[in-house]
Amino acid sequence: MDMEFCHYIDGCWITPKAASTLELLDPETEHVRCHVPLAGAEDVAQAVASAQKALERGWLETNVSERLVYLHRLIAEIDNRHDQFAKIISDDMGAPIDFCKAHQVDAALAHLQGFVEAMQMQGETDVPLSAGPMHRVRYEAIGVAALITPWNWPLNQIALKVGAALMAGCTMVLKPSELTPQTGVLFAQCMAATGLPAGVFNFLIGGAETGQLLTTNAQVSAISFTGSTRAGQSIAAAAAVGFRRVTLELGGKSPNLLFADCDIETAVRQGVAHCFRNAGQSCNAASLMLVEDSILDNVVNQVAKVADSYRVGSPRKPGSHMGPLINQTQFERVQTLIKDAIQQGARCVSGGPGRPDGFNSGYFVRPTVLVDVTPDMAVAREEVFGPVLTILSFRNLDDAVLKANQSAYGLAAYIQTSNASVANEAARRINAGMIQVNGTSRAQGAPFGGTKSSGIGREAGIWGVRAFQEVKSISGLSATEV
Ligand code: NAD
Repeated sequence: MDMEFCHYIDGCWITPKAASTLELLDPETEHVRCHVPLAGAEDVAQAVASAQKALERGWLETNVSERLVYLHRLIAEIDNRHDQFAKIISDDMGAPIDFCKAHQVDAALAHLQGFVEAMQMQGETDVPLSAGPMHRVRYEAIGVAALITPWNWPLNQIALKVGAALMAGCTMVLKPSELTPQTGVLFAQCMAATGLPAGVFNFLIGGAETGQLLTTNAQVSAISFTGSTRAGQSIAAAAAVGFRRVTLELGGKSPNLLFADCDIETAVRQGVAHCFRNAGQSCNAASLMLVEDSILDNVVNQVAKVADSYRVGSPRKPGSHMGPLINQTQFERVQTLIKDAIQQGARCVSGGPGRPDGFNSGYFVRPTVLVDVTPDMAVAREEVFGPVLTILSFRNLDDAVLKANQSAYGLAAYIQTSNASVANEAARRINAGMIQVNGTSRAQGAPFGGTKSSGIGREAGIWGVRAFQEVKSISGLSATEV
């Protein structure tokens, strides 16, 4: 067993008592990369008890400025290990090294900075109500939080949860994905280096079973989960026992609407990039391009050209190429979706099934664009989590909104038009948690999350923090007594 894979419980590094281990293969070479110990019942019970004890030892009474000290230290610790994180994330999940440096690590730092700003601007925990100074609202830490994260943006998703729980005043047990264990360990090392009181932050290496043990533990008061819709459903059921708070950030199938009056060249370039980013392994990937009939042929031609220009290569090599998918399961799932779509009548205008030319091993996928797709095909409805762009057409605004809203998901939607009132109406009528118009990035601290099968609740900024707090109304105390 690799000795660096330790749990961090009550301020100590603990050698796992794991009954089982998971073998991980390198996404590029398919060689054995490491064996990951998976935490069992004893480890989970110990970690949750440690978090509970830390609450009682006084963490619950800390104020925002005390907690901000630790957040600033965490940002500095991650920043100091910026390139080490990039290398480890790249090794863990196969994203190219330059992408990890420029995006994977920086996204995490941006979210943590977003929490700093949110707390400085809106983070009061005691807010007077307009009914008079004796009527107030207090935001109080909910208790022990269980934080479960996926592998695709491994540091970013950890930062979103840990930063928020820390600012809310919770204690926590983090269980990141078993598929990206090194990222989790390095993050836990950063947390340990902040000097937080023992037990405020606990870290377990484990898999789905560890996650289940954590989410069913009665001492856990809040569960924050990012991952598949399938696992989210069972976690929501677990949270119902004891009526525990649950935040779920799940899958997506986000439409990108191209209206005839958009800047086609820019919309195509950005649209393809937004689908292929991180080899398509992003929950908010713009994987369903909806194009107004009159520009369909032009858009398809341009998309094919842009997609053909994408290069695939080793995650270890510098450059802007695309890396492999994380593992065999994802590789096979993406291959099946492409092949099934073709069998049902879809046409590939770029890419297609199989590995790219020159690759005989590794989980490399050809960046693929599918047209002549019908809305009932799996590739048009399901999250692919690979570099596969599906194009459908629409007749007018009503038809575009109808097609966008047909999805079971509601994470994000993208709108490309030069007509402000069309953009405004589409943004209002599309049922999704996040809308981006004409390639505008989300603001730092903006709420992140979705509707329908994309989950419950929001992360990031003040919304992320409030997800870990109870709201208490108090009447009858004067300001000086609070
Ligand atoms: P996954 O659901 O298999 O695993 C996610 C995490 O949950 C892992 O840590 C895993 O060990 C744990 N887990 C799995 N089953 C569990 C259970 N029943 N109880 C408790 N824990 C459990 O997902 P994944 O394959 O790691 O991640 C990919 C998915 O995550 C995609 O569907 C993607 O869209 C989604 N995702 C969503 C967002 C968002 O913000 N909406 C962001 C990133 C990824």
